[in-house]
Amino acid sequence: MNSIDLQFAGEIREIRNRIGRSERKDYVTTYNEKEFLNGRTRDERVLILRTRGCSWSYHSGCSMCGFWEDTNPEINANDIMKQVEDFLKDHNKGDVLKVFTSGSFFDPLEVSEEIQVPIIEKLLNHYNFLIVESRPEYIINKAERLKQFAGKLQVAMGMESTDPDVLKYLINKNYNFEDFKRASETLHRNGISVRAYLLMKPPFMKEQEAIDDTIKSARDISSFADFISINPMNIQKGTLVESLYKEGNYRPPWLWSVVEVLLSLRDIHIPVVSLITGSGKSRGPHNGHSCDRIFSESIRKYSETGDFAYLENLSCECREKWESFKTEENSLPIQINEAVYNDF
Ligand code: SF4
Repeated sequence: MNSIDLQFAGEIREIRNRIGRSERKDYVTTYNEKEFLNGRTRDERVLILRTRGCSWSYHSGCSMCGFWEDTNPEINANDIMKQVEDFLKDHNKGDVLKVFTSGSFFDPLEVSEEIQVPIIEKLLNHYNFLIVESRPEYIINKAERLKQFAGKLQVAMGMESTDPDVLKYLINKNYNFEDFKRASETLHRNGISVRAYLLMKPPFMKEQEAIDDTIKSARDISSFADFISINPMNIQKGTLVESLYKEGNYRPPWLWSVVEVLLSLRDIHIPVVSLITGSGKSRGPHNGHSCDRIFSESIRKYSETGDFAYLENLSCECREKWESFKTEENSLPIQINEAVYNDF
């Protein structure tokens, strides 16, 4: 486990506690997306279950995580089973299903132990391939029991960055790359594939640092994961990042930067995609120019097909603005955890 900075964690908690929580007991939402997975474009359904929320959030949580708002502390195992049954009534069949919980599927306080495997079994009766999310600490003692789902189950972990300072001072992740590696090795030993999420541009990071950090982290993690999904920052409600953004002290990454990262990683032996949320909006990654729509669409198309041609030929006059933004920011005499700069 990574040590945390108590003051930073306290600030995140204080901001997060200002938002209300849900009283609902139904699942949060479901929607469709496509992704280039296991060598082909797959139709994926996403199901977000409502739970009591991530246990780490009860302490403080991550600086960018706004899942708290959808969680309900009263939710129990029966409610979660009912959500799954209700979902299957309307979405009975499909290829890939991603089940998110606003936390960790394998956290026993969030999804109790006795319903974890039955839920996986139930869903795999209706879908060919299942992806669930979890922090690594819940994996170690569990992977043996997941062996029966080898080849049909992928576990996604939010590594965000492999840099311990980024994890501690910019994100408040409370685990490190070693924890990810251990969980990943355990899963692989039991035939379960691993997806790594990387967060592009945590708070207090300059644009060029964000590009470099994501590229380095992807290279570091590529030997321990089967799939990398890059999440450029999307500003969520009730987070420390939102608070900085409102003060004018945070700008999400440029779409130019996302394209640079994806093109730089084309030699990696595992798929790297980026299914961006809020693309082209001021709270999501954007160039702040009329090209936002075409950039967003091209990144989406690339992530659905794995075809780099969608990224290679992008051009726009705002490239110059992006280049000078990075140069000006880099000339500021500040270190990684002091950088704040917003052009909007
Ligand atoms: S990002 Fe994941 S680990 Fe961090 S607080 Fe949110 S749900 Fe928990």
